[in-house]
Amino acid sequence: MDKTQLLNELKEEVGKCRRCPLYKTRTKVVFGTGLASAKLMMVSEAPGYWEDQKGEPFVGAAGKVLNELLDSVGIKREEVYIANLLKCRPPENRDPEEEEIKACTPYLERQIEIIKPEIICPLGRYSMKFLMKRFGLEDRIEGISKIHGRLFKVHPVKSLQSKVFAEDEQFNRVKNLSQNITVIPFYHPAVATYNPNMKKVLEEDFKILKTIIK
Ligand code: URA
Repeated sequence: MDKTQLLNELKEEVGKCRRCPLYKTRTKVVFGTGLASAKLMMVSEAPGYWEDQKGEPFVGAAGKVLNELLDSVGIKREEVYIANLLKCRPPENRDPEEEEIKACTPYLERQIEIIKPEIICPLGRYSMKFLMKRFGLEDRIEGISKIHGRLFKVHPVKSLQSKVFAEDEQFNRVKNLSQNITVIPFYHPAVATYNPNMKKVLEEDFKILKTIIK
């Protein structure tokens, strides 16, 4: 089965999800959008009001910022796969709870396994923490204000050893990974909607994408 079909099947499954109480208050599940064969995947936190209404990620004010950031580095939004840690909106846009993240992220894991992106960008601290752990980078986790815009290369384990960390970032190796992947955390684009100075920081950080995407 090809990647698009696999994602469509998963989308159907997620559409019926009742793994956590958020299904009771959601309008629409926000599964994710973009190319199934995307090289670049962006993972944010959870749907907000407009995303919940439309069933698509980043269609509100933060989405406008994200679109501008992608434009600024000449990346077409359709070529990026965009998903969230949580597929349903937390009431009043509150922070995701630990139990919700636990219940929902197996879906994200499966999206990542299907898409096999070369670059994955967590947007904001929740997805940064989750993805850094997922890719064996838990020892490198710092606050998003320190870590934003940095690049971590992760390689699959070649032997049976569980993980080998070298001093050099180039040699993080993790199990359960079939391709090399680069993790680049960014601030959540919504920060630019309440602090315009942060737009510049995001723009600077996004420039790194231009240099590594061929
Ligand atoms: N904020 C997020 O974290 N995700 C969205 O999809 C939209 C806004």
